[in-house]
Amino acid sequence: MAKYKLEYIWLDGKKPIPELRGKTTIKEFDNPPSLADLPHWGFDGSSTMQAEGHKSDCILKPVAHYPDASRKSGYIVLSEVMHPDGTPHPTNMRATAPDDPELWFGFEQEYFLYKDGRPLGFPETGFPAPQGPYYCGVGCKYMGSLARQIVDEHLDLCLAAGINHEGINAEVAKGQWEFQIFGKGSHRAADDLWVARYLMARLCEKYEVDLQLHCKPIRGDWNGSGMHTNFSTKQLREVGGKEYFEALMEAFENNIEGHIDVYGPDNHLRLTGLHETQAIDKFSYGLSDRGASIRLPVNFIKNGYRGYLEDRRPNSEADPYQIVARIWKTIQTVAMAVAA
Ligand code: ADP
Ligand code: MN
Ligand code: MN
Ligand code: MN
Repeated sequence: MAKYKLEYIWLDGKKPIPELRGKTTIKEFDNPPSLADLPHWGFDGSSTMQAEGHKSDCILKPVAHYPDASRKSGYIVLSEVMHPDGTPHPTNMRATAPDDPELWFGFEQEYFLYKDGRPLGFPETGFPAPQGPYYCGVGCKYMGSLARQIVDEHLDLCLAAGINHEGINAEVAKGQWEFQIFGKGSHRAADDLWVARYLMARLCEKYEVDLQLHCKPIRGDWNGSGMHTNFSTKQLREVGGKEYFEALMEAFENNIEGHIDVYGPDNHLRLTGLHETQAIDKFSYGLSDRGASIRLPVNFIKNGYRGYLEDRRPNSEADPYQIVARIWKTIQTVAMAVAA
């Protein structure tokens, strides 16, 4: 028997976007545990905005586990929050997103690293040189010395955890970065994304840095942070066709508000029509168009309207479970319309 440190993590009751919580339990196993070996656990919901004081037990149901390379014999145990009777807690958004194996997602998580209340590399007063050289930049005068160390350490932690990272890059504003995560099925990429956020926030503690997910932390001529959500249905990948594509876009256009509602708070500050965005109340799509709500990758039309689509509206702070649930819902109406 060997002892393992199991970090159960879950999403709390903060509105409109939950925050991550986690605590450790030590358990003994003969072999590295599989998901089925991990017991349900509990926590005090009155301290996480998930219960009233007099009846405060919430249950943690493990749904995925990840090797935790920063801890000896450690695992991160991603958990859903349940009522003691086994039904999902109202804050449990994962339970509202059907895990459709044919819907694939890729998230581009943009974020700032913050130190002393400002982006890493910003001077104590005033601003650094305007944005321009920072995107995919190199050299201490642009990147500083700490950011890349954190970003690379995070990448290694994510890869060791088995998170399906596809890449990373420095972004347009100083102190702003991005990582991309892909997953087949509507839960996989969203699960991995929350764990990647957790690993980054925890890693940053030792550098006295914070993960800043707000979509427009600096006003003025500095890019905000998005979380472009790339998605594909089986039909988009294998069949394509203009008719299906146009029906899909019509369904999105008819649900602008329903999508914006779950695409992250304060998005009006970011979706202005400037800085590679479409205005928040408009809907458009376009080939290679970074000013559109939905961008079609460069070969999409040439390939017979086949491939994936990029919804550019979700922001960096959005809850990926709510995004995938909403996109799934809109796509369902089209599947039914085309079948009818
Ligand atoms: P850009 O910055 O040009 O928008 P990125 O390379 O940062 O592009 O992101 C592209 C995203 O598209 C990645 O997250 C990737 O996982 C995702 N993606 C690629 N193919 C598919 C697909 N078939 N279905 C869903 N997402 C996809
Ligand atoms: Mn990108
Ligand atoms: Mn980007
Ligand atoms: Mn993108």
